[in-house]
Amino acid sequence: LAKSLGGNAVRFFAADMAPRASQRAQMEGEMRDALKRREFVLYYQPLIDLNGDRVLGAEALLRWMHPQRGVLPPGAFLSLAEESGLIVPINEWVLREACRQGTQWHAAGFGPLRIAVNLSPVQFRRQQVGDLVRQVLDESGFPPDLLDLELTEGILIDHDETVAEQMQLLRSLGVSLSVDDFGTGYSSLNYIRNFPLHRLKIDRSFVKDLANDLRALAIVRTIIDLGHILNLKVLAEGVEEKAQLETLRAEGCDEVQGYYFSRPVPAEAFALWLSQRDGRRAVASAS
Ligand code: C2E
Ligand code: MG
Ligand code: MG
Ligand code: MG
Repeated sequence: LAKSLGGNAVRFFAADMAPRASQRAQMEGEMRDALKRREFVLYYQPLIDLNGDRVLGAEALLRWMHPQRGVLPPGAFLSLAEESGLIVPINEWVLREACRQGTQWHAAGFGPLRIAVNLSPVQFRRQQVGDLVRQVLDESGFPPDLLDLELTEGILIDHDETVAEQMQLLRSLGVSLSVDDFGTGYSSLNYIRNFPLHRLKIDRSFVKDLANDLRALAIVRTIIDLGHILNLKVLAEGVEEKAQLETLRAEGCDEVQGYYFSRPVPAEAFALWLSQRDGRRAVASAS
């Protein structure tokens, strides 16, 4: 049997695997060029304060406008960017672009908007993130207290002294630090104690099941309580329905983001959304 399948199996394997490896190499090459060709853009998703439903700012989310494949989300290229190390220059660009955009919105009269930027564990291994952030803040003039850096548990669990030093440096610059996707990773409580954090972002997998899974509700409640006892803000990701929003409000969650308010959209669309929303609120409070 093995022998009779052999020829085909090998051919199948070769046909299946070889293009994949070369596809990866091709995509890596394309990614290198993408930075030069300015094919990366940032989409923005609003961050909402649950006390008064005010817009606090936006999370900047990376997109690749691929010339053949269209708008690619990070899921389509982030792991390759991290393996190849290309995430370092890409994420440097993200940080610069987000601070530039934030400064521009401020100048345009949108008021103070917090901008959240996702950092990669690879950056912490390969570069001095603290120095980079200091430089970008200097160049852009963006207020440090409006910059929020989103870290994954993978960064914090790397119990490295250099990571701890960089966190202290970041903190001393006056930026805020959030733990992204909280609850899905290692969830070691040790780093919450040791790092100078500001915020926990509850992963959307818990929010998704909030209405029909008592255990998801219990976990969300526990994260909110833990955060508040430790003097951290708690944000819930992935709010899609009003029922989820009201449950989170009742549980005392501080901030939310999700499709219920807006999907991530290009900068111009975000600014438009913001001014239309402000307009509606002004009309509502005048009547
Ligand atoms: P994240 O930081 O947890 O970002 C939230 C993700 O959830 C985004 O996916 C967003 O589009 C999605 N999302 C927001 N609200 C909802 C909702 O109500 N329902 C559902 N189903 N999804 C929602 P996106 O933009 O595809 O980004 C995926 C991940 O890629 C991010 O997860 C983040 O870890 C990473 N990422 C994004 N931009 C960057 C970046 O500039 N640098 C790095 N290193 N990573 C990034
Ligand atoms: Mg994030
Ligand atoms: Mg997240
Ligand atoms: Mg996530």
